[in-house]
Amino acid sequence: MSQQIPYKIYLEESELPAQWYNVRSDMKNKPAPLLNPGTLQPITLEELTPIFCEELARQELDDTTAYIDIPEEIQSFYKMYRPSPLTRAYFLEKALDTPAHIYYKFEGNNTSGSHKLNSAIAQAYYAKKEGLKGVTTETGAGQWGTALSMACSYFDLDCQVYMVKVSYEQKPFRREVMRTYGASVTPSPSMNTNVGRKINEEFPGTTGSLGCAISEAVEAATTQEGYRYVLGSVLSQVLLHQSVIGLETKAALDKYGIKPDMIIGCAGGGSNLGGLISPFAGEMLRGEADYKIIAVEPASCPSLTRGKYMYDFCDTGKVCPLAKMYTLGSGFIPSANHAGGLRYHGMSSVVSQLYDDGYLEARSVEQTSVFQAAQQFARVEGILPAPESSHAIRVAIDEALKCKETGEAKTIVFGLTGTGYFDMVAYQKYNDGDMSDYIPTDEDIAASLSALPNVD
Ligand SMILES: *Cc1c(COP(=O)(O)O)cnc(C)c1O
Repeated sequence: MSQQIPYKIYLEESELPAQWYNVRSDMKNKPAPLLNPGTLQPITLEELTPIFCEELARQELDDTTAYIDIPEEIQSFYKMYRPSPLTRAYFLEKALDTPAHIYYKFEGNNTSGSHKLNSAIAQAYYAKKEGLKGVTTETGAGQWGTALSMACSYFDLDCQVYMVKVSYEQKPFRREVMRTYGASVTPSPSMNTNVGRKINEEFPGTTGSLGCAISEAVEAATTQEGYRYVLGSVLSQVLLHQSVIGLETKAALDKYGIKPDMIIGCAGGGSNLGGLISPFAGEMLRGEADYKIIAVEPASCPSLTRGKYMYDFCDTGKVCPLAKMYTLGSGFIPSANHAGGLRYHGMSSVVSQLYDDGYLEARSVEQTSVFQAAQQFARVEGILPAPESSHAIRVAIDEALKCKETGEAKTIVFGLTGTGYFDMVAYQKYNDGDMSDYIPTDEDIAASLSALPNVD
């Protein structure tokens, strides 16, 4: 019975998913519909298509089709960097002296350094197929912008990226990767858009936020002929594309008859977590299996653990549709946390609904303990993890240490979303002992939640 599990479980090309899985199809309580910000009525396909490509708008609204074919061109692009390895963390288990079996699915093996390319290539593909000239988007830390610029250069599409000003200034290398792939990168808030000019006027000297960059990118898309807006997280279409992570993970585990007890992922907008857990959550929803699923978020931006489940704006400028989600309020500005990809005020409405229905739990962790886990992992497993990914490592280690106490050999799977080479300033702060843990007070959160729109 005890077949030796290899250090890395790969899949053959023939075993790679040919379809994405739409977890919404198996949810009894569907995620609440997006609302038109003007009328507050559920948004229609016609209203979405000026913003999104038509096929992507369809995917956004489709909560019944279980499996959606991955177009050939996307499957073939995926083969450039997929399957991503599912690795048995033998060295980490040994270092922790735990009976737990730990596996991680590593998405950092491409130039963008994260899972974001899985959805970027799909979104660029549909834009190209629709005959568009280009796409606009925002990027915070830069991973999404990088992934999208790679995808756009592959399909020869123009790519306009609004990059949160503070990151634009602090992360010149990410900016140059994007420019190398042909994208134009504008610091946000900029003077290119009405909303950018307005924010600059209201808050002179502001270094920007993700919500503000989204508003600018949406405006840029809707005011240029042949352009649409694309988004790297939060949306249900993005979770759909990211289901490739979970499908591969499940196929690899099934090959060796491994059934996880626990699945852990970091949660910013919820796309990698949603993608990783989709096939497993599907089994839970259909009553076929049970797993403990844990979403990990930073204590500085705790939307699931301390936010409210309400309709809210997805962006600061309030031009995007409203989504019902766990949110801290679209005006919430998280403190300077080094996990840029986890600094969003809300959470995917799919993940929010699954959480509200009790299919997953959430935990928040503090930044210094996250970097301690990152360092421990890097030293034994040979990968320098992204700060975002290290949130999942933190909780995986905590759970493995619990197993050490109880003597249980639980099987833990976590998502290792990316590499941290562009985050060395954060590592430097940690190494110098200069890292702080800022946690918002109840008053901070209450103030930001008090500005939520009044919609049920
Ligand atoms: C963007 C990002 C995240 C968080 O985004 P989700 O949509 O929550 O997955 C996590 N890890 C990395 C490396 C990222 O780039």
